[in-house]
Amino acid sequence: MTTYSFEPTLSKLNPDDAVVDCIIPAGEGWLHDLLPGQIFRIVDLEGNQAVDTLFYSAEDPGDHYSAVRTIVNQQNPYLTTGSVLLAESGRELLKITSDTCGRHDTIGGACSAQSNTVRYSHDTLQMHNCRDTFMLMLSGRSEYTKRDLAPNVNFFMNVPVTPEGELNFADGISGPGRYVELTALAPVTVLISNCPQLNNPCNAYNPTPARVLIWNGKGGGENV
Ligand SMILES: [Zn+2]
Repeated sequence: MTTYSFEPTLSKLNPDDAVVDCIIPAGEGWLHDLLPGQIFRIVDLEGNQAVDTLFYSAEDPGDHYSAVRTIVNQQNPYLTTGSVLLAESGRELLKITSDTCGRHDTIGGACSAQSNTVRYSHDTLQMHNCRDTFMLMLSGRSEYTKRDLAPNVNFFMNVPVTPEGELNFADGISGPGRYVELTALAPVTVLISNCPQLNNPCNAYNPTPARVLIWNGKGGGENV
């Protein structure tokens, strides 16, 4: 198992002051817009959950989060406090401003019927997957099609890159109540699939709920 150390960066924000506070049940999706300055928290309520997330510019929906640009810009394959999430255009979408997990994957991608059959077995073809949830959530907005499903962020998911450059879907490093907080740097649309995966050790083969909260920037965000 990969060992690493990190200093958690704690948030000063109080959930009682949040303007949005809801639970995404295991296997379900969530679509929401953020205004610049708003602070967005995702909580891994029971630990070892993967929260598959995509971001879009709300002003230009074709301009989605870019894992490649983000990794190249920060010269680090993992996301944590200080990471600035960039769009394809180079536009800054959000910045991670608090993190008590310490590592989030943006290489492994979202699970799909196709990847499940390759990674696990053909029997998994019919199983619920993140790609289906993404499509279901986007189906309510005419500006999006499946072309808009780009490489995503897997919050709380541990996918170490080996010295040989391979990916290792490892045991989760998150725990109950750990969270990541992002500050919107632009108008952003957030698309989440709270991963329903039953075949992967990264979520202990047990999908669990996530909590999402949003605060308005004013009065909070001291740590921006
Ligand atoms: Zn998934």
